[in-house]
Amino acid sequence: MKIAVLAGDGIGPEIVSQAVRVLECLATDGLSVELESAPFGGAGVDAGGDPLPASTLALAQQADAVLCGAVGGPKYDALPRPQRPEQGILRIRKSLGLFANLRPAVLYPELVQASTLKPEVVSGLDLMIIRELTGDIYFGEPRGRRDNAQGEREGYDTMHYAESEIRRIAEVGFQTALKRGNKLCSVDKENVLETSRFWREIVTDVGRQYPQVALSHMYVDNAAMQLIRNPKQFDVIVTGNLFGDILSDEASMLTGSIGMLPSASMNSAGAGLYEPIHGSAPDIAGKNIANPLATILSVAMMLRYTFSQPEWAGRIEAAVKQVLAAGYRTADIDEPGARRVGTVEMGDAVVAAL
Ligand code: NAD
Repeated sequence: MKIAVLAGDGIGPEIVSQAVRVLECLATDGLSVELESAPFGGAGVDAGGDPLPASTLALAQQADAVLCGAVGGPKYDALPRPQRPEQGILRIRKSLGLFANLRPAVLYPELVQASTLKPEVVSGLDLMIIRELTGDIYFGEPRGRRDNAQGEREGYDTMHYAESEIRRIAEVGFQTALKRGNKLCSVDKENVLETSRFWREIVTDVGRQYPQVALSHMYVDNAAMQLIRNPKQFDVIVTGNLFGDILSDEASMLTGSIGMLPSASMNSAGAGLYEPIHGSAPDIAGKNIANPLATILSVAMMLRYTFSQPEWAGRIEAAVKQVLAAGYRTADIDEPGARRVGTVEMGDAVVAAL
């Protein structure tokens, strides 16, 4: 299993090194992995002026899977757009054809108190948000600045989805629903946006091949509200890039911390990029307080989805459950009476459990 390791910026190197320790621990037990690191994001800019250096992209293209930390930070905020670290993420997604972003939001029973919602609203939560990742307003052209007809300056972007893009993400949605609770909710803004009207038409059409799956549609504003009001009504949500970006961060808070949630971004060949859903958290970087569990759980997703190794994935997930049950907590999920640990000590605990 060839894995490209792109630690990135901020807390990226801290959390990725704990995930690498987990892989190395499994390697001593027989898992065959080959790891190679490369600069990415701000680290790529520092190394050679490009957030996605050609050598990093080549490594990612040759690998079976990519393990990412996070990119970005205040140091890079004033750079021109092509050099912004976040452009590195958008470009690698596009270059590897990673159109399907899978973001599970699972609440561990031990962390019920870490959620800002009432326990009865969130306990037992287990939902999957599938976000389309390579289309929508994030990539649409034209975009830019111009003077409008009144001579006033304005900024503009373009939202669009091609039929093939909607069909393939809808397929992922239905297939995922088949493996779970047979319920798929497609989220759009059909009452206002032409792109959404087309999205709903195509998702409905794909749904005709999946009579076993109960398909529903919801406006994004209502979905944002329902995720807080009654999140357990959802099994699988499929949505576009912009809405998915926002809803998946919202769903992360249901589970207590953004530091707990892994993600997978897959292409049609099954190769994938695995990363925590959070960013580079510059406010806590270098302090050994970041939660590494989202990144460690991203490795479990990698083993499950790209390498079809559910037993190894299950061992990592069980080890994470074990350390939570033993009371280990980083600052973001801390609670009275818990065993407060730093990033490295949380990695130690997971490795010990493994
Ligand atoms: P963020 O996710 O980095 O941080 C939001 C909050 O969550 C912060 O208070 C942070 O301390 C906390 N947090 C995040 N991860 C944590 C962890 N593992 N453990 C404990 N606490 C954690 O979002 P932001 O502050 O909006 O963005 C910071 C930078 O990250 C920006 O430059 C942004 O562009 C970038 N970013 C990158 C990615 C990515 O690499 N995929 C995603 C989102 C944001």
